[in-house]
Amino acid sequence: MKRFLTAFIALVTLAWGWDLLSASGAAAAGPLNPWAVRQHALTLTGLWSFSLMSLAMVLATRPAWLERPFGGMDRIYRVHKWAGILAIAFGGLHWLVEMSDDVIKAVYGREGRLPKDHGGAFLEAMRDAAESLGEFAIYALLAMLVLTLWKRFPFKLWRYLHKVMPVLYLALAFHAAFLAPLGYWSQPVGALMALLIAAGSVASVQALAGWIGRSRRAQGVVEAVNEPAPSVTEVVCRLDDAWRGHRAGQFAFVTFERFEGAHPFTIASADHGDRRITFQIKALGDYTHGLAQKLVPGQPVRVEGPYGCFELPSGRRRREQVWIAGGIGVTPFLAWLEALQAAPDKAPEVDFYYSVRRRDADPFVERLEALCATLPSVRLHVLSSERNEKLSAETLRERGRHGRRAEIWFCGPQGLADKLRDGLRRLGMGKVRFHQEAFEMR
Ligand SMILES: Cc1cc2nc3c(=O)[nH]c(=O)nc-3n(C[C@H](O)[C@H](O)[C@H](O)COP(=O)(O)OP(=O)(O)OC[C@H]3O[C@@H](n4cnc5c(N)ncnc54)[C@H](O)[C@@H]3O)c2cc1C
Repeated sequence: MKRFLTAFIALVTLAWGWDLLSASGAAAAGPLNPWAVRQHALTLTGLWSFSLMSLAMVLATRPAWLERPFGGMDRIYRVHKWAGILAIAFGGLHWLVEMSDDVIKAVYGREGRLPKDHGGAFLEAMRDAAESLGEFAIYALLAMLVLTLWKRFPFKLWRYLHKVMPVLYLALAFHAAFLAPLGYWSQPVGALMALLIAAGSVASVQALAGWIGRSRRAQGVVEAVNEPAPSVTEVVCRLDDAWRGHRAGQFAFVTFERFEGAHPFTIASADHGDRRITFQIKALGDYTHGLAQKLVPGQPVRVEGPYGCFELPSGRRRREQVWIAGGIGVTPFLAWLEALQAAPDKAPEVDFYYSVRRRDADPFVERLEALCATLPSVRLHVLSSERNEKLSAETLRERGRHGRRAEIWFCGPQGLADKLRDGLRRLGMGKVRFHQEAFEMR
């Protein structure tokens, strides 16, 4: 993610630098002129902010065709989130630079002030409007940033407030289109801006019209609701013809109630070609708490998907595999193991660690044991914290047959993932490939 965002920002900077080298406007005024420096800072921070916001907007449309290059929809969402955060930070900087004219005037005087682009009365009127809109948008965006980073702010409320983003984006697109230096439009930076404005605006309209994910939506009914443990709800759904099937390990956005909206859940069953899918849902928040009591068999359900690249690694891989599930992170592995039942000889050599609080009360241990019993190459290790069996990098090294060539597939709490990654680095196993499915999108 860091590499992608750095390359993206570098590309935008390059386009800006190209215009600078063509020595028009501010550049011609000379590098020591504080008004020229202010102008450069204004255009560069504005460009960074707007291009990152456009990227965030495009990624918000859940572009399934980008899943392979990004490594899954959870990663696309992470890039979306950080592109948005950086865009707002640069936007704040842009606003500060804009406000700096009084300081420059007080320190250096009006001498060296750059002439304004003049484009007639219409353009001037549009520019005034664009300035006011931009100012309003940055205040709203800064407020949104605070709510995003403040994890205690209720997710449901945040999600509704977040729906205003396409409107703010359109305001920013208007701001960028009318306030960009006129000379830009004959330069590569102008072409880049035009592309970003077009892509971001189309994405905003898609979001406002409710078209995101439309082609991947299927309707269905809840067939069965079970409660295998007090905090876990198992839901079996049967979908209509619009459902195009899934690969084991993928997830979907599920809407049981229209006003509640969609929640992402991993499809915890293999695809048997009957358009029947199962979810195992842990009570991790307001809506999922007591979900078994809220759902009834026969009620309609809307499922959008499938998404994600946390897929059963192909048998061609030579590396030994380590699968790690923490708590409800077991769901993609349930689907993998179920899918392997049809071809046990294709199962790779795996050490599968399942970390639970209390082995005896866990709703999945028995099922995992039954599924692994038919797969001799999959060795299941259940670690129960109640019995002081903690999963750590040392455990992986001691219990595993694998060395540095192992490949880890992880789904579970972020804290456990961080602990394992740190431990592996400490043990000189930092080169181990670590695939992770993130259960968090905000
Ligand atoms: C790719 C993916 C797969 C998942 N698979 C499973 C699974 O198989 N089983 C399971 O129990 N849980 C799974 N989750 C987590 C599950 O989506 C949340 O626990 C659930 O949405 C919480 O909803 P809530 O209203 O009860 O909690 P809240 O208190 O509203 O939110 C708790 C946290 O859940 C997340 N969340 C809530 N609503 C949404 C939403 N609509 N979209 C995205 N994130 C949301 C946010 O991070 C939020 O901070 C998965 C999450 C992701 C991203």
